[in-house]
Amino acid sequence: MILVLQRNITKDQKSHIRNILMDKGCVVREMTDAEQSIMGALGKSKLDPDFLKSLPGVENVIPITTPFKLVSRQWHPEDTLVPIGNVLVGGKRIVMIAGPCAVESREQAMTIAREVKRYGALVFRGGAYKPRTSPYSFQGLEEEGLKILAEVREQTGLPVVTEITSVAQADVMMKYVDAVQVGARNMQNFELLKCVGRMGKPVVLKRGLASTIEEWLMSAEYIMSEGNDKIILCERGIRTFEPYTRNTLDLSAIPVLKKLTHLPVLIDPSHATGIREKVSPMARAAVAAGADALMIEVHHDPDHALSDGPQSLYPKQFGQLTRDIYVIAPVVGKQLDFDYQEKASATVQDANGEASQRIAFLGELGTFSHNACLQYFGENADVVPKPNFRAIFESVKSRETAYAIIPLENSLSGSIHENYDLLLEYDLEIVGEITLRIIHYLIGRPGTRLEDIRRVFSIAPVVQQCRQFLDRYPDWEIVAVNASTSAVREVAQSDGCANAAIGSREAAKMFDLDIIEEGIETNPMNFTRFAIIAAEPAGKKDARKSSLVYSVGNQPGSLYETLKIFQENHINLVKLESRPILGKPWQYMFYADLEADVRSDAFAPILDDLKNKTDFFKILGTY
Ligand code: PEP
Ligand code: MN
Repeated sequence: MILVLQRNITKDQKSHIRNILMDKGCVVREMTDAEQSIMGALGKSKLDPDFLKSLPGVENVIPITTPFKLVSRQWHPEDTLVPIGNVLVGGKRIVMIAGPCAVESREQAMTIAREVKRYGALVFRGGAYKPRTSPYSFQGLEEEGLKILAEVREQTGLPVVTEITSVAQADVMMKYVDAVQVGARNMQNFELLKCVGRMGKPVVLKRGLASTIEEWLMSAEYIMSEGNDKIILCERGIRTFEPYTRNTLDLSAIPVLKKLTHLPVLIDPSHATGIREKVSPMARAAVAAGADALMIEVHHDPDHALSDGPQSLYPKQFGQLTRDIYVIAPVVGKQLDFDYQEKASATVQDANGEASQRIAFLGELGTFSHNACLQYFGENADVVPKPNFRAIFESVKSRETAYAIIPLENSLSGSIHENYDLLLEYDLEIVGEITLRIIHYLIGRPGTRLEDIRRVFSIAPVVQQCRQFLDRYPDWEIVAVNASTSAVREVAQSDGCANAAIGSREAAKMFDLDIIEEGIETNPMNFTRFAIIAAEPAGKKDARKSSLVYSVGNQPGSLYETLKIFQENHINLVKLESRPILGKPWQYMFYADLEADVRSDAFAPILDDLKNKTDFFKILGTY
């Protein structure tokens, strides 16, 4: 039973309620979520909701209808983020966990750790206590293996996760690792579950070979009832009659879990398929289905691996997989972040000389720009809304904020010219980029139907992106606003159902409004590319991309001369944009994005050549 408490409840009223519940034999848990306090009464005793509702200080009583309580979404409607070291599992960034099945030696673990880190893994895995089907198989290096894992973390900075197979290992686990895994065979080892609950370390809880989702969540409930909510649910395949794969990966568990629980979902396609060539396809499918993280077995010499060699990817294959996930993730509103580790510590000295990671963005919370901040810098991003683009550039220049996120171009409506002009005017640096898939929603007050609408609030580029849909309703008045959240706010503050707005799902939720139509953009391939700007270069070695701006003389072939340099040096030009030069009619600045690091030593002669062939030349950033 969940008791929603009144906001002005007194301490005495709270303890009165708590005593009544405990007298009835309940375990009582309290939680404050979105400024609302709630109390959970857990246990077998039958409670009368009407009686509880009549108690002073109680606003509402909601029965939890599932047998699992604390892990249910009813108890905690928001997603839980689980930290493994400095890596958050469950947010908008896909977490890749990778490593060998078992730690075999210091060299083996270190070699694989370096490789998987290079290709984008954020957490290292490796078993030290191996639960093997045969007592004659390699059983793991035990405490020696844990020491190697701790060393891997020290050398690479990757947090480490390993399997705990017995309560007796709790102390050494506490000492050496960042997270523990409860293996499939131990999912219903209740003493072990209670033990990891008490340990308080993040737990990867694997689904049993023949367990239902409900049994699995009841096991998670054991851990959480001991006070540990840092649980990641790991689907690793279940036993079916199908022999072509080692197990059958139950991908439908992902949406089922997303509905039932607030805990993040990790998919292990290695144990699920047992076959190297099947791992990547299932990993890609898992991300498309909404998984928060992947756990992949990787070995540099799988033919000689002491366990699970046939299902281990070669490091290069893991690299290809991370590149695929990088492309797939934005389609489902997430990111794979190759610079995750560096970003956590990337601070800039602010105007007061203090380390800051404050980020300026356009509009209000709930806009796509805000979402881009969270996807790039993580859920704890310290964001500062600004009313216009110039104010954003000013805030970075004055070091009021360390960074800013600005949209540069949209795949349907084209470039945001104002920002190109501001990049030229201000002496700031592009230090990163992020691409977001943009889905537009038609949003109205609760109960609004399409035929009620007279007016639609939106920003100009968004109107452009939804042209085909809006053209079906020629009578609607389109009202332009400054930011998409302002459009939604406008509707929330109006009466009746004549007003609607185009905005994000987040904004609709923020203002308690209804979604009238989903996906109203003309083409679903609707992506916006944002740049991250700072006052100084990030100093990144081996940057993948560079942005330049230059002008050339007004004579035949002068632009071609610069393009020829790219061609001759096999440099891929991924964008070229021209903008008029202020006060010089019919003369243009060219903005170019290259797949090269123009500040690298190797590029130096090419850079000289470019400077010689241009009238004006400026590097906007390498990232
Ligand atoms: C493992 O992750 O190495 C492992 C033994 O997994 P499972 O418990 O899923 O078989
Ligand atoms: Mn294994």
